[in-house]
Amino acid sequence: MGAAETATTSDAEAAVLKVAVDCPLRSLLDYLPPAGMHAPDLPPGARVRVPMGARSAVGVVVASAAGSSLAPARLRRVTALLDSTPLFDAALLELLKWTASYYHHPPGEVFAAALPAALRIGQAAVGQETWVALTEAGRAALAQGEPARAPRQRELLTRLAAAAAGSSAGELDAALQGWRTTARALAQRGWIDISQRDEPPAAVLPATHADAPHADVAHAHARAPTAVPTPSDAQSAAVAAVDAAAGGYGCFLLQGATGSGKTEVYLRLVMRALERGAGALVLVPEIGLTPQLLERFRSRLGVPIAVLHSGLTDGERLQAWRAARAGVARVVIGTRSAVFAPVQQLGLIVVDEEHDSSYKQQEGGCRYSARDLAVRRAQQAGVPVLLGSATPALESLYNAQLGRYHRLLLPRRADQAAAPRIALVDLRAHAVHAGLAGPVTQAIERHLATDGQVLVYLNRRGYAPTLLCTSCGWIAPCSECDARLTVHRSAAQLRCHYCGAVQPLPTRCGRCGFAVRPVGQGTERIAETLAAMFPSAPLARLDRDTVHSAADVEAVMHSLLDGSARILVGTQMVTKGHHFPGVSLVAVINADQGLFSADFRAAERLAQTIVQVAGRAGRGARAGEVLIQTEYPEHPLLQSLIHEGYEGFAAGALAERAEARWPPFGRLALLRASGTNATAALEFLRQARDCAGAHPAARLLGPVPASMARRAGRHHAQLLIEHAGRGELHRFIDQWLPQVEQLPAARRVRWALDVDPLDIQ
Ligand code: ADP
Ligand code: ZN
Ligand code: ZN
Repeated sequence: MGAAETATTSDAEAAVLKVAVDCPLRSLLDYLPPAGMHAPDLPPGARVRVPMGARSAVGVVVASAAGSSLAPARLRRVTALLDSTPLFDAALLELLKWTASYYHHPPGEVFAAALPAALRIGQAAVGQETWVALTEAGRAALAQGEPARAPRQRELLTRLAAAAAGSSAGELDAALQGWRTTARALAQRGWIDISQRDEPPAAVLPATHADAPHADVAHAHARAPTAVPTPSDAQSAAVAAVDAAAGGYGCFLLQGATGSGKTEVYLRLVMRALERGAGALVLVPEIGLTPQLLERFRSRLGVPIAVLHSGLTDGERLQAWRAARAGVARVVIGTRSAVFAPVQQLGLIVVDEEHDSSYKQQEGGCRYSARDLAVRRAQQAGVPVLLGSATPALESLYNAQLGRYHRLLLPRRADQAAAPRIALVDLRAHAVHAGLAGPVTQAIERHLATDGQVLVYLNRRGYAPTLLCTSCGWIAPCSECDARLTVHRSAAQLRCHYCGAVQPLPTRCGRCGFAVRPVGQGTERIAETLAAMFPSAPLARLDRDTVHSAADVEAVMHSLLDGSARILVGTQMVTKGHHFPGVSLVAVINADQGLFSADFRAAERLAQTIVQVAGRAGRGARAGEVLIQTEYPEHPLLQSLIHEGYEGFAAGALAERAEARWPPFGRLALLRASGTNATAALEFLRQARDCAGAHPAARLLGPVPASMARRAGRHHAQLLIEHAGRGELHRFIDQWLPQVEQLPAARRVRWALDVDPLDIQ
């Protein structure tokens, strides 16, 4: 981002604007101010319309400078200033510049990602509305009983006379059908005045897609705050610690089991911030943004909240953004991209379930970590940031060990059930029927007989992961991926979980014509098996095939809460955000996928999943029981997890990472590439490696094909870049990437740099 570093000069000298334009260029672009304006008239953070080649584009002014490296004749002018006040304050501007530089991503794309789509294309940052008001002449006419023969005109005049300052078009739409025609006639007579004015932003936004499509201001204001639990000593201590840091940066890691009261701590801290007149930003994982959670925040805080998540329409997103920027909504709750939300007078950032992988942008665009950016934003804004989790990322635990983060522990609450008992079930030592070992079936029976509820977790949706020919061994493959097709029986389909390909479920082998058979277990099949085994226990399923909206998730949750379901079978979805107080038994059907992965993070993810899913049990009066089916009960990961808990596991896993120099002991970036044939991506990466020279300043590993090389018809490969020091890694990338970009082979592939990759398979 060389251009961005050009020193900002004093107002008098500044002649050129540095603009972030949404395009793949790695630098800011230089423009002259519009004719008759001076660079300082266009404040950093405001949008401008600029010429880009033959078209026009919207950009954000980042800085002004004395001169440009472009020849004066090539400098073009900004065509229009779109905002009279900056959209981004100084701290957010800094964050965006830092993001572009840290992730080595084109700044224009980073700025664009921080804005709602409507603002990216130049729509007004403040909404406009049509305003209708009575004129003096109109008031006089009405007083004289006019217009006597036009009842509709009279009705509108009467209505406007009753409103002190006039009415918005929206209000009139709701009250008087067809008022616009009437209004035109009245305006012609000079009795009313129709104008455009800034629309006050709607305060509260729909929680989810499934909710009502319109902001519901009155509803939120009217609701009285609900009963507030008395905080435990640990909760009070956590609140006091973070609160004491108010007014300056501090990073806190709040560690406590599910149900230990972390959300209660967030709520109290957000209230403190509001009392100080500050705003708060609360980040939650994609799947954690449940109507339940939002309702809790809304009713407790009693102030308007803007909600930002990926399920919003462009219009809803714009409304939420405007409400935050106008300071009408002082609290913003949102998923990943909300880390860039324009919260006014930011006083606190909370990141719930900070270990969650949905905070990392994994595909397309700038691959940032919203958790890491939240910490960075807090640093730049000089405010405390609180990272909460039952199973913190190893990176975060390490930062706490180093003293960079202050660790706050929440023990289980006194009125909470005891910690669940976790045991391993050896799949080799027991009879296994349809994926369920004897002891697990017996435990389910026992819990159902004693009024318990059962949660069955399996990280695989569909009926079976494989369709096999029992004669020739043929396995139904995806034609576009190196993957097997998953059997979806009720839909009578084979589906690829990598590229989405769908085909009818065959009954005969594609090669020899013999009968085929589904092999292995998916949630659909486990649910079928359990329904047959326990016909009197109603069963619910929670996975992406059965729930499509927040309302569906709610319905499943309610069926468990009100007892109309006794067994819940689900994928990863059951491990997050939901509280099931009646669940007394959790069965993990297959823990082994994470034990022998090529990805150094697989073990961490498995441990987190097991602890999170176990945390759903025994939240009511009784202690929970957790059974984990495995073929490797002696595996050290499972052993440490069972006997020493997540803490013990984390200590062991960190020691292993230190030895292997994996993060957080080394820094990684991954150059990913894909092409339409098997060699293009590898060839590009080989050239990329070569242009680093014989003795590169960072360690380059690869290139290698990705672990599933062919996906959706494209061949994927990767080159790993490693250095013990973060600064060194970035200095290397800074000088290497511009050369990589120039490689002829780069044009034949899609490629992207992933800094701090989460998934390195
Ligand atoms: P977490 O976010 O760690 O899962 P929550 O804050 O959601 O935990 O708390 C779980 C449940 O316990 C909630 O119903 C909450 O209202 C309740 N709770 C939290 N703190 C207390 C407390 N100090 N006393 C009584 N109930 C509490
Ligand atoms: Zn066959
Ligand atoms: Zn596929």
